[in-house]
Amino acid sequence: MDTPPAKKTLIGLSRAELAAEMAEIGEKPFRAKQLWHWMYNRGETDFAAMSSISKTMQARLAELYEVRRPRVGREMISSDGTRKWLLAFDDGNEAETVFIPDMDEDRGSVCISTQVGCTLTCRFCHTGTQQLVRNLTAAEIVGQFMAGRDAYGEWPTPDDSGRMLSNVVVMGMGEPLFNFENVATALEILMDGEGIGISRRRITLSTSGVVPMMKVCGERLGVNLAISLHAVTDEVRDRIMPINRKYPLKELMQACRDYPGASNARRITFEYIMLKDVNDSAADARALLRLVKGLPAKFNLIPFNPWPGSEFETSDMKTVKAFSDILQDAGYSAPIRMPRGRDILAACGQLRSDSLRRRQAS
Ligand code: SAH
Ligand code: SF4
Repeated sequence: MDTPPAKKTLIGLSRAELAAEMAEIGEKPFRAKQLWHWMYNRGETDFAAMSSISKTMQARLAELYEVRRPRVGREMISSDGTRKWLLAFDDGNEAETVFIPDMDEDRGSVCISTQVGCTLTCRFCHTGTQQLVRNLTAAEIVGQFMAGRDAYGEWPTPDDSGRMLSNVVVMGMGEPLFNFENVATALEILMDGEGIGISRRRITLSTSGVVPMMKVCGERLGVNLAISLHAVTDEVRDRIMPINRKYPLKELMQACRDYPGASNARRITFEYIMLKDVNDSAADARALLRLVKGLPAKFNLIPFNPWPGSEFETSDMKTVKAFSDILQDAGYSAPIRMPRGRDILAACGQLRSDSLRRRQAS
């Protein structure tokens, strides 16, 4: 027996695509505007509740389309307030989305994934060990944020001052600049002032250094940039991040200098995982300062989060502190990112890997 075709989701279409979709079923452009408001300002998932749309039209839309979210497979809440959702997509794939509250706890960042797994194989990263890889669709990327808003009851879109989910970091699973079109569409939806309305200044995209796409990203999206740097020489970076063999440090730093919109007020964040005896010496810290000379930079020092089978150890706190002091003495911000949500495996890629392990074990 034939199964009926799955309904098309309206989530994840750009404004232009939504208008084109409505034109295709013979509707006027204002219909797309109405839907946009219901979907992204009100967070409505049921056509029957879209009261500015006639009953007949509601029924017609419901026959053809849906505005669902990804299904929340598991939710975990850490003792420090970090929340993590393992989201299940229609094909059975999973990705994880994390909400990290700020210290003052009245707002925070949603960390979203862009791929299932990652084609890059950074040696310290658990995501890179997962074999299955596919790009997430724009609907799946924007759906992660929307599922977070559902969990916090933040619909309709609150004004800028009243949001728990105030910031977005594109730092979950996957390399966003390898899935740029879908990431860009999703972020444009998040930034749209008549919908979710997150300002570009509150969005940070993290890349391992896909040099040719950095400028494109800055020009089209203008979001804050973070670079997973993690080493100060090509020799070490080649070893721990294979992408460096394609785009070595010199090219990466030039792309940072050329990043549109970076300024002293909007600095590029250099993420630096502290790996014991690999990249954590005082000489490394001084080399790091030379590398970023002249760039509007700030640092984020990340104690390595170990996972089963990982070959590295975390630098001891004294070493991390000394490294941070060298950067701070030179006038840079260099906070040590405290591990959040350790009790719920909140590091990149870990929850999904844990879920796969459990399934394989059962
Ligand atoms: N692919 C992109 C974005 C996702 S990774 C990128 O690499 O930038 C998000 C951040 O988590 C990166 O800075 C990454 O280096 C870091 N990360 C990966 N594995 C980690 C681990 N085991 N401990 C601490 N940070 C890790
Ligand atoms: Fe991919 Fe980023 Fe992990 Fe490297 S650190 S394997 S680029 S997700």
